Amino acid sequence: MPTAAVTVTAAGDHSNSLIGLLFITLTLLTLGYGVGCWLWPFAACTRCKGSGKRRSPFGRAFGDCRRCDGTGKSLRIGRRIINSLRELHDKGTR
Ligand SMILES: [Zn+2]
Repeated sequence: MPTAAVTVTAAGDHSNSLIGLLFITLTLLTLGYGVGCWLWPFAACTRCKGSGKRRSPFGRAFGDCRRCDGTGKSLRIGRRIINSLRELHDKGTR
């Protein structure tokens, strides 16, 4: 039955290309995220929403945010990974 054989092969190719497409998409997303973390290493601090100030329950700002030391920025997770990878690399070459 040549027809059935062709159908099976076609189905196999289809799932293979789907996995390949998924793999490429994931790779691109990871790369894009990595580049994004490289270009913009800082994200707005989650605690003070980027203001760098600590807020009282009454909405008045007082003192610097402890999480970001008043900068209003926090290092993104991806950049932390890049930094630790770079540290590992530096240790290896020394
Ligand atoms: Zn903060």
